[in-house]
Amino acid sequence: MFNYKALILTCLLMTVSVCSAEITVAVSTTQIYNLTYNIAGDDAKVLSILAPGQDPHTYQPVTKDIETVQNADVIIENGLHLEGKNWMKTLAEDAGKPLITATDGIIPLIMDKDGTKVNDPHAWFTPRNAAVYVNNIAKALVKHDPDNRASYISRAKLLLASLKSLDGWIRSEVSVIPPEKRVLVTNHDAFQYFATEYGFINTAPIGCSTGSEVGGGVTPQRREMVVNSIREMNVRSIFFETTINPKLIREIAKDAGISIGGSLYSDSMGDSGTPGETYIGMMRENVIKIVRGLK
Ligand SMILES: [Zn+2]
Repeated sequence: MFNYKALILTCLLMTVSVCSAEITVAVSTTQIYNLTYNIAGDDAKVLSILAPGQDPHTYQPVTKDIETVQNADVIIENGLHLEGKNWMKTLAEDAGKPLITATDGIIPLIMDKDGTKVNDPHAWFTPRNAAVYVNNIAKALVKHDPDNRASYISRAKLLLASLKSLDGWIRSEVSVIPPEKRVLVTNHDAFQYFATEYGFINTAPIGCSTGSEVGGGVTPQRREMVVNSIREMNVRSIFFETTINPKLIREIAKDAGISIGGSLYSDSMGDSGTPGETYIGMMRENVIKIVRGLK
């Protein structure tokens, strides 16, 4: 006869053993979520505060986020002021949880916005910088869950190899765009790291934050500057960003008399089930649209 009691006991033991090996990591953005998830595998639970499509610059934490952070063992933020008013840092400090900054070790691009110097927070947009995120995240997981050290390091190695091959692929894809046509116009300055790495000029009317903090906001001067650069540089098409209302880019495209090259994943990745739900998928789709729009 089938022994139900033994089965229940086995299931209970399995649950206990799975739970005892598991740590919970709360992260701020969807990009960090995907990188962390790929390193954590089955050994740690990863929860993201931001959902796909949400804007890290303007986000305001809700009660559920406080609980998520309180129940986590380690907290990971992007840093460089991506999380407007340092909301992730505040959540971690209020809960007394260890905070890891994924951009630690990256030399930030400095942006001069109307005379104010600010660090550009959008560092994940080169695979080279994403590798720094991966190393910081792996280090944090190993520190807080040393029993699974070997698994975290193995997964991180695979991810680093994928990032390296992604970088080679991007270089080869963008090589079909003549240097004089490498002008990337988007809503806000999210693509400076990408532009610097792959030889583009990036210009945006909103500045480096979609919020009204230092360096952010649309000014008539920036808008005019963008329209003028589009005309002067003979830009073929400009791009929406998935997290930002497309109205401004539509108006600019109309003023400059050019087409829109589609929507790029910027401060958020895609919904689950879309090509942009992974870091590599997000970069791949962006590059394909950029090449199609500008070559
Ligand atoms: Zn941004």
